[in-house]
Amino acid sequence: MNKIVVTKFGGSSLASAEQFRKVKAIIDSDENRRFVVPSAPGKRNSKDYKITDLLYLCHAHVQQGISFDDVFKLIIERYTQIISELSLTLDIMPYLNEVKEKLTSGASADYAASRGEYLNGLILSNFLDAEFVDAADVIFFDEFGNFDAEKTQATIKERLSNVHKAVIPGFYGSTPDGEIKTFSRGGSDFTGSVIARGVGADLYENWTDVSGFLMADPRIVENPKSIEKITYRELRELAYMGASVLHEEAIFPVRDVGIPINIKNTNAPQDPGTLIIADAGPIDHSGTITGIAGKKGFTVIAIEKTLMNSELGFCRRLLSILEMHGVAFENMPSGIDSVSLVIADSELKNKRDRIIEEIKRQCNPDSIEVHPNMALVATVGRGMAKTKGISAKLFDAMAKEKVNIRMINQGSSEINIIVGVESNDFEKAIKSIYKTFE
Ligand code: ASP
Repeated sequence: MNKIVVTKFGGSSLASAEQFRKVKAIIDSDENRRFVVPSAPGKRNSKDYKITDLLYLCHAHVQQGISFDDVFKLIIERYTQIISELSLTLDIMPYLNEVKEKLTSGASADYAASRGEYLNGLILSNFLDAEFVDAADVIFFDEFGNFDAEKTQATIKERLSNVHKAVIPGFYGSTPDGEIKTFSRGGSDFTGSVIARGVGADLYENWTDVSGFLMADPRIVENPKSIEKITYRELRELAYMGASVLHEEAIFPVRDVGIPINIKNTNAPQDPGTLIIADAGPIDHSGTITGIAGKKGFTVIAIEKTLMNSELGFCRRLLSILEMHGVAFENMPSGIDSVSLVIADSELKNKRDRIIEEIKRQCNPDSIEVHPNMALVATVGRGMAKTKGISAKLFDAMAKEKVNIRMINQGSSEINIIVGVESNDFEKAIKSIYKTFE
């Protein structure tokens, strides 16, 4: 039986004519690959520009009343070069002129940014000989600017049900009054997921420039292994700590209906990549882990009070102080008479001293200490809580490397042990954990 595969190609996969050819070879090699979601052209090398960034820049120039001709020229050049090197007959100039006119007359930043995907989609559909379906006609936001999943899914189902092959640009949709609105940066991943769900795909392939997720950040660990299979939940734990291959929200539309996501490499299509699935089968108790991720930039506020455990409302008061200051916390490990708040510095900003004063006033603690410059390191793996010896191994590895652990939290999550270390020890902690579980 035929399957339906939705493919999304990132900016680097569509940065040049050469990359377009690789994309065509991938699509042509499997007739199930029927729905294609492109990003805007990305960087061809490390010094290059992303078209999306140039479009935002054009918009900013208009806002400042400065000419954006020079920037727009770079955009024209990129698209026309791709078209001419692919020997396409498509005349893109009328489309580019329309974009320029609209930008000149004050079109929104979202409109500006979305044209990167729109124009790339036109070219790709021409090259692949597939129908072009404007995302503005199938992806919707409500009047408050929130993604309207229901209307979108119903429309995609209807609009694409009899279409054999289509290109739907990523990153944007439309509001009830017909304005263009984009998702957050990197949002084409989300579009791909929404399309996959709408057409009832068997698989969502996300093509990028790496062969899937690595077990650890390659800037910290030399040549880390890649992750073959990962569950949606494990990925959430890793993504939330800063893994950046896939847009954070892209798993949600497909997760509920169990469509797997395969992260693949356009430049090495033979590599299996990483498969993201609902359930990886029976838990492996061999003591392996799936990945390690971490983030710097946290402050820990450690509070002690005798008989805290029996004092009614202590934590409620504590948390309402954070809420009052509009500060979200990352973690809250606790002991019998102590509790710590782990807060990202980006949340805390300059509110720290006020919050501490308020805690002293309302909670009357015996002591309150502030530890800045903390980093969190999450070790993620299925069945970690049910496998003997995992934490012993983890802590032993860090002790050997003389990493001072300031905080430990396993929470209710079976798949994640988080340790807090000083920022100076961050890299050392990740390296030592990787080495011991490698
Ligand atoms: N082109 C957009 C960006 O650079 C969206 C995407 O690539 O997914 O953020």
